[in-house]
Amino acid sequence: MSERVKKDLRSMGIDDMTALLKELGQPAFRAKQLFGWVHEKQVQHIDDMHNLGKGLLAQLNEQCEITAMQLERKQVSKDGTEKFLFQLADGNYIECVLMRYRGDMSKQRNTLCISSQVGCAMGCTFCATGQGGFVRNLTAGEIVSQVYAVNHQLIEEGDTLPVGNVVLMGMGEPMLNLDNVLKAVALLNDPQGQQISIRRMTVSTCGVVPQMKAFADKKLDMVLAVSLHAPNDALRSGVMPVNNRYPLHELMDACRYYQKQTRNRITFEYALIAGFNDQPEHVAQLKALLKGLDCHLNIIPVNPVANTAQFSRPDRKQVAAFVKALQNAGLNASVREEKGTDIDGACGQLRGKVTGKQ
Ligand code: SF4
Repeated sequence: MSERVKKDLRSMGIDDMTALLKELGQPAFRAKQLFGWVHEKQVQHIDDMHNLGKGLLAQLNEQCEITAMQLERKQVSKDGTEKFLFQLADGNYIECVLMRYRGDMSKQRNTLCISSQVGCAMGCTFCATGQGGFVRNLTAGEIVSQVYAVNHQLIEEGDTLPVGNVVLMGMGEPMLNLDNVLKAVALLNDPQGQQISIRRMTVSTCGVVPQMKAFADKKLDMVLAVSLHAPNDALRSGVMPVNNRYPLHELMDACRYYQKQTRNRITFEYALIAGFNDQPEHVAQLKALLKGLDCHLNIIPVNPVANTAQFSRPDRKQVAAFVKALQNAGLNASVREEKGTDIDGACGQLRGKVTGKQ
């Protein structure tokens, strides 16, 4: 006999919960209470929802569950960046990375970089996740659970700031799991839940054009970060297979469409690789490519990833010279502060496997 699949409460919004409670013959006002327990208080067990009454708790236990995710390992970088490895209910692993920004009060924040898929199908050659291939999409509940699980850690450690900024730039291509990503964004933004401002959430893409257009049509005030990494098709196709399917002119059309729909500035991520995409002609190509777009270029000196020894990191001087040349060409560009390189927590280093557990 096949086991009945339980409904995941963390994947449910208020409308889903209202419908569920109606099915269970419960009064409508319970939906708001249930939503508060799940998405504001972030309870980990149904029995912790004290004011719902024994009858409803029994019904919920019978039909529903709360996404189970076990913290398998936490690593702390020399610069304070923390990487969490979580095991999902089906045994797969995902990672997320916490950056605690301190300094003056107005700038204090906890930013969490979260995953949207187990593995990734896009195969970018400089990326550890891409080397492992695609396994499956995360549910909306699994996406928000990364935030809730890290919030529990923060509370345990006495950190009074919950996660306030979310970056969908961990494992996976968010545009290929767009429905669940958008549902998770709405749940995290909900005034009855974590109330994380949409403007404090960033979604990244390697350039999946049709989904970028669908995302643009939602007209959300989220930050869109496009992984560009090369200034022309020949170079880009060499490191990002997605470019064969959606070459740069199509990607730029999608970016222009996004900007027309949202009026939001776009961030372009550019992993700087010595002798590959850091030459003077590349500055001119970038200038032509990005003409007319309101955008910012994040220049990220490439991180060391196992099996990609062909990518060498430019030295500080080369990086500074490249950024200066971009600025002189009239582009908004800066070097992105790197975090967590020593624990493989930086961009392109997440892998999602337990290797050599210590
Ligand atoms: S860089 Fe992003 S899109 Fe490319 S393989 Fe890695 S996770 Fe996937």
